[in-house]
Amino acid sequence: MYRFDTLAIHAGQPNDAATGAVTVPIYQTSTFGQIEPGVHRGFGYARTEHPTRRALEECLASLEGARYGLAFASGMAAIHNVLSLLRHGDHVVSTQDLYGGAWRIFTKYFSKFGVDFTFVDSSDLTAVERAIRPETRLLWLETPSNPLLKTTDIAGCSAIARRAGIRTVVDNTFATPVLQQPIALGADIVVHSTTKYINGHSDTLGGAVLTDDESLFTDLKFFQNAIGAVPGPQDCFLILRGIKTLPLRMARHCENARGVVEYLRAHDRIAKVHYPEFGAIVSFELDASVDETIAFSKRLRLWTLAESLGSVKSLFCHPPTMTHASVEPEVRRRVGIADGLIRLSVGLEDVRDLIDDLDQALAEVASPRRVACAG
Ligand SMILES: *Cc1c(COP(=O)(O)O)cnc(C)c1O
Repeated sequence: MYRFDTLAIHAGQPNDAATGAVTVPIYQTSTFGQIEPGVHRGFGYARTEHPTRRALEECLASLEGARYGLAFASGMAAIHNVLSLLRHGDHVVSTQDLYGGAWRIFTKYFSKFGVDFTFVDSSDLTAVERAIRPETRLLWLETPSNPLLKTTDIAGCSAIARRAGIRTVVDNTFATPVLQQPIALGADIVVHSTTKYINGHSDTLGGAVLTDDESLFTDLKFFQNAIGAVPGPQDCFLILRGIKTLPLRMARHCENARGVVEYLRAHDRIAKVHYPEFGAIVSFELDASVDETIAFSKRLRLWTLAESLGSVKSLFCHPPTMTHASVEPEVRRRVGIADGLIRLSVGLEDVRDLIDDLDQALAEVASPRRVACAG
């Protein structure tokens, strides 16, 4: 078995048997000629199986230490695929400050079909255990969480879930398999938005579901084909291209993030820095009003105000009005998503330029104390 960095370049990606091409070709085709009715060369119809997609699925599975992988048109399509395991009357226990789109599909879409969700602080194992009911089927974890970057003990939670006879799902988008491999920690299913670090270049959407469990895979594969939210061959190619440098990129993302965190922690206009000591997503609360926070966001020049994360380019967002706008204000307040919260996705630029830009934008944030004295 090859090691991680080798698998990123080789898993599922042998040189092309027909031509020797060293890169998996973009098989831009929707269907495949059959030898006789019902007999084909491994590929029948592109929604069901596709060679460029299969290369991506095998590569992603190997990086997560899973036997089976499925690729999707987006992270949300991957989440939808896993939730398709549920029936009317089932219950899910989930991390409370999770990705806003996951919150939305849970509470505004699957709830319509009679699936019930309970949100808990999953960093608290007792709270997780207490939320499990006889009809609970899934424990849904996101760690580090979004946008507060709280960490959950995946092994501890998976053990609780296994004792209760339920499956554990981990959304591993923020950490990537470079930093955290949930299946080795006892999780049954890993979900990704490959749009983020795995692709890494902000040029396509994608999602993935990985599992080591054959019966789960059989069901999930059936849903993938039945629902049809599959990625096209060009998207699979771009994500495979991104994966080859994932280990290198993550190392530099993390190094840059440590530099930014050190700078932010020493700055007196910042009330709080959220950073789990790994990864490259950093959140902080400005010691300022909402208006000041918006004015601050407009002063940044190198950092791009945008949804998403995990790109070579540094991005930032204001979760209360952007990624978490679909979460009710009182829920945001209860889980601690402050109005002055900014989330950074630290990219691969020279960290000194990233810090200089933050510094010029922060220099103009008015001190509430100074304002009070003047008044
Ligand atoms: C972005 C994201 C998703 C959704 O992925 P899309 O590719 O945007 O559909 C799901 N989970 C997490 C943690 C994300 O950051």
